[in-house]
Amino acid sequence: MDCLFCSILEGKIPSAKVYEDPFVYAFRDINPQAPVHVLVIPKTHLASLDEVTAENAEAVSHVLAAIPRIAAAEGLEKGYRVITNVGEHGCQSVRHLHFHILGGKQLSETMD
Ligand code: AMP
Repeated sequence: MDCLFCSILEGKIPSAKVYEDPFVYAFRDINPQAPVHVLVIPKTHLASLDEVTAENAEAVSHVLAAIPRIAAAEGLEKGYRVITNVGEHGCQSVRHLHFHILGGKQLSETMD
């Protein structure tokens, strides 16, 4: 399977790691949209939130549990935004479930 983020997990493509545990990997976005822009992914391949079910939701729960710890380590005590894009209308460009953490400045009130 040809997946960019699986290749990053395998170390075939370099990344700037900010966090790792047995279930979760987080790294800096290569094209940051805010002073802090981190991508948090499950080590299990899921194409997007659309593939999450009650049976595999544990992989996602580990990701969600890691996010506040990563945010704290990045100094985002004033707040941050978490986004996951899904599919064409969501402008998802990498088909491996990932959550963007954006912060380090006052973010806009609009989300579209
Ligand atoms: P999305 O558009 O929601 O699928 O987000 C994919 C994100 O992956 C974009 O913000 C890209 O800038 C980012 N990205 C693509 N390739 C890399 C890479 N090699 N290392 C880090 N981030 C990447």
